[in-house]
Amino acid sequence: MKKAILSISLLLVFGLSFGQTNFFLTSNEAEQIIKGNFNPDDYQAATVLNHPEDIVAGVTQNVDAENLKQLLIEMSVFENRNTGSDTTSATNGIGASRRWVHEKFEEYQVQSAGRLIPFYFQFDEEICEVGQHRNVCAVLPGLDVSNHSVILIEAHMDSRCAGACDIDCPAHGMEDNGSGTALVMELARVMSQYSFSSTIVFMATIGEEQGLFGANAFAAWVEANNIPMKAVFNNDIVGGIICGETSSAPSCPGLNDVDSTQVRIFSGGSSNSPHKSLARFIKLEYAEEVEENASVPMLITLMSALDRTGRGGDHIPFTQRGYAAVRFTSANEHGNANAADPDYHDRQHTSDDILGVDTDGDMVLDSFFVDFNYLARNAVINGVASGMAAIGPETPSFSAENNAGEITVTIDDPNDYGKYRIGIRHTGIDFDELIDVEDGNVGVYYPYEPGPYFISVCSVDSNGIESLFGNEELFIASTIVGVEEVDISEEESKAIELFQNRPNPFDEATYISFMVHEMIPHQKAAIVIRDLNGKEIRSIATNVRMGLNEILYDHGYNTIGTFVYSLELDGKVIDSRQMIFAN
Ligand SMILES: [Zn+2]
Repeated sequence: MKKAILSISLLLVFGLSFGQTNFFLTSNEAEQIIKGNFNPDDYQAATVLNHPEDIVAGVTQNVDAENLKQLLIEMSVFENRNTGSDTTSATNGIGASRRWVHEKFEEYQVQSAGRLIPFYFQFDEEICEVGQHRNVCAVLPGLDVSNHSVILIEAHMDSRCAGACDIDCPAHGMEDNGSGTALVMELARVMSQYSFSSTIVFMATIGEEQGLFGANAFAAWVEANNIPMKAVFNNDIVGGIICGETSSAPSCPGLNDVDSTQVRIFSGGSSNSPHKSLARFIKLEYAEEVEENASVPMLITLMSALDRTGRGGDHIPFTQRGYAAVRFTSANEHGNANAADPDYHDRQHTSDDILGVDTDGDMVLDSFFVDFNYLARNAVINGVASGMAAIGPETPSFSAENNAGEITVTIDDPNDYGKYRIGIRHTGIDFDELIDVEDGNVGVYYPYEPGPYFISVCSVDSNGIESLFGNEELFIASTIVGVEEVDISEEESKAIELFQNRPNPFDEATYISFMVHEMIPHQKAAIVIRDLNGKEIRSIATNVRMGLNEILYDHGYNTIGTFVYSLELDGKVIDSRQMIFAN
């Protein structure tokens, strides 16, 4: 039994938008492809390039920083991409911008010999006094309809100023989120030269800034039509590298700090959710397929939280419906988007979110707020991971037994791939270890210290490509072999066992978990955080259930040092441990 406490306020702000109706895809062909009703032979490339080496080389070499720059320059001329802005003007507003994206998808359709199919996804909802809206999309049909699955790569294309419906201000929205939109467009261009088993949808959404409306509408349509959505890659603020004064926690070090080598992946649920599993897969594929040959290697940071504090994005409507979904966001953001504050000087959600400035007065931009090489590196991370997920094998199931200091994993694979990897997680969100099972279908793992171990398994095909990892199973190691004997009889005798937080030391957020072996009657329960002087920092009310309970503690950008956390029932301390906030 696991339980995650998410920020309630965040879900209230970003989660409850169910008003969209009258979903309509402007291309019946695209609709049938997404539903899996098509003949892959009709979309066969003249030369089928579906080997992982071709795809990895294609994505890493063909994603082009200059092309991304050009897309952003073209996008900036629409002035205002607010969801309520002009839909009829040929030059300004959301109508002109979405037709431009559609035209680009048409160009890529031609370049892909007709295999990429552009369409609009239309829905009705009153947003900023406009009643009907369109996401701009393109679908690349997969080769495998017998095992139909869909992967979505998305970004919101709408922009805003301080006023959520201000349609007159200049709102170039280059960092937020011209960067993500250009990334999705560039991947549509590059990836449509290759063939994948899964069908891939590229989507630029609308109405994100007023409540994730475009993504929510598409997620609702996906759910209503039982579309087998395998993974969702949301990109929102993925090109900026300069830290503002106010960016939302967990955040960057401070004004004008620059970071062009780190990207954050946010995802929902507890550390063993399918969303965090997808995030781990993305990081693993980057490490295995890209990093070694990358001229500038990227640090991918797996974040504990669904999103930054009080913020949200277009992955959330998919997360809420149980589809594995993640959000990519730059390490450094220029502001917390609180543009209504008179003391706000940052660029996000203001007319200052422009592409750059002309510093020498020759009317040509020469200093940019979006780093095109950084944006290209983030596009490569997306393209390689989504590409590998789209050609990789199927996820096997497994059973495992925890006996006398060893966890024996038996893999059940109807496809008989013959090679597998066992992912072991003990200390944090990321894998601590991966064990290759080369021969047969049984692997054994020896826990090195008492506590919880999360085990998951993937298949490896003959090209060495991993499937997504399946659900994790939890094992509590109580007997450890191979190291000196650990006396945990005292721990075992406890009705409730409080575990070391993970990760520890931590930056911004960490998981605190406890195991309930035997219920202790109580009215109220809380995890209480104190400093070393005993001063209470935070009290997080929690429910207590039999089995493993897990709580996400978001420390934010706060005091560095050692803290004590306690599980308290009706004010009585059941157990305490120390943790270190290191950033
Ligand atoms: Zn955004």
